[in-house]
Amino acid sequence: MEYPTFITAGTAWWAPDGLKFPEAVVEHEFGHQYWYGMVATNEFEEAWLDEGINQYTECKIMDALYGRDVDILNTRVATAGERGTDRIGYIGAAEYDPIIRRGWQFVNSGSYGGITYSKTALVLLTLEHFIGEQKVREAQHIYFERYRFKHPTGDDFMNTVNEVAGQNLDWYWNQAVRGTQVLDYRIQRAESYRADWADKNAPKKEKKGETEYVSSVVVHRRGDFVLPVTLEVKFDNGEILREHWDGQDRWHRSLVGRFQEPRVRKDSRLLDADHAVVCSVGVLAGLRRDFETTDSRWFLPGMAAPASGLVGFLRQPRAWIFGVACTWSGSPLRGGQESIYRRDEQAL
Ligand SMILES: [Zn+2]
Repeated sequence: MEYPTFITAGTAWWAPDGLKFPEAVVEHEFGHQYWYGMVATNEFEEAWLDEGINQYTECKIMDALYGRDVDILNTRVATAGERGTDRIGYIGAAEYDPIIRRGWQFVNSGSYGGITYSKTALVLLTLEHFIGEQKVREAQHIYFERYRFKHPTGDDFMNTVNEVAGQNLDWYWNQAVRGTQVLDYRIQRAESYRADWADKNAPKKEKKGETEYVSSVVVHRRGDFVLPVTLEVKFDNGEILREHWDGQDRWHRSLVGRFQEPRVRKDSRLLDADHAVVCSVGVLAGLRRDFETTDSRWFLPGMAAPASGLVGFLRQPRAWIFGVACTWSGSPLRGGQESIYRRDEQAL
């Protein structure tokens, strides 16, 4: 818990060495000395400005101190990171409340936690993809210098980022912060077929070096969040093609010319540049390969099980038990008990 110039944290007797909750809490509460301690935002009306920005800060610092994807839990049987746990918090509540909602107006406390803390952190991590990590850092710095001991609003924050980025990011803020749009893309189909399939005189047998193929990859935007994405088409000869799609339509077909040899591989995927787009419900811990972003193992799949249900237990019993224990003990996963793991079945 945080108070100006005073913070508290705790741990549990059963916690393994690799469990970094005490470290995360200490860092988090220390961060509050800045985010609301000095930059005095209104935590009732715009909680994301202190809890959310602070959660992002926590993620950056924990990543730097203990390593990305292992900075919450790092044991031989299980690992988990800040990003993965934030994603769990967010996915359970993705469609209910916008980040800018006033604290008392959220549908429930799970949504308040998942959106205010986790989604804000993921939105800022994702922002790094568009303007670069350095710009996000610079924007935070300027925002802090400009508004410390004042009472800035969310618009002050977003305008500062726009200013530092040198571009109007309202298309992003409107969906990610002011709206409840859900980011969810997938590869719907990846296939190669013979270019001469309609030719009656075509030889029945494919011939290496002579038969031509047409490769087709269909990308589907399942959610209402419109985001430009990069499609990476892989071929069985190792060749890789990348294609940019603005995401405006609900789906996009990438037709890749004619090739004599290479055929498209099923593991063609959507790239988020350097795996930076993280605020997607389709990306939970890289369980679905559309947007593979983390390699956390064991723990996250267990937590992601539908409402911690039977499937999760059977697949990852140790992780499931651990995940439930963490949630029940009121861990920084925040809001876990009331979460609705809607899409996780598909993810698994
Ligand atoms: Zn906090």
